[in-house]
Amino acid sequence: MALSGYPVLCYAAGCHSPAVYKVAARWSDGITHELKTYYLACAACLPTLFAAACAKRNACRLAADETLDVPGIYELARGTRDRELRRRLDLEAQLHSTPRDSS
Ligand SMILES: [Zn+2]
Repeated sequence: MALSGYPVLCYAAGCHSPAVYKVAARWSDGITHELKTYYLACAACLPTLFAAACAKRNACRLAADETLDVPGIYELARGTRDRELRRRLDLEAQLHSTPRDSS
């Protein structure tokens, strides 16, 4: 039984698929920087969770010195450090440009 063999699962309620993307935003208080993770998502749940992360980010109240970028989509790779994750700007653009509640 290898603990490291466990797949990371999608955060969506009721979804048990392995996560392949990380939805995260760069946060800083002017001194330290970190990648703040909102959700881990499988491909099917990515649009929903990405939209939820954007809503959360917009509702977030920041202190004067804090900055929080808009959420980004990163490819989840086992054993890869946060700053080495590959960002999927193409997916972000695609999801931003497809509003789901308008005709
Ligand atoms: Zn899912």
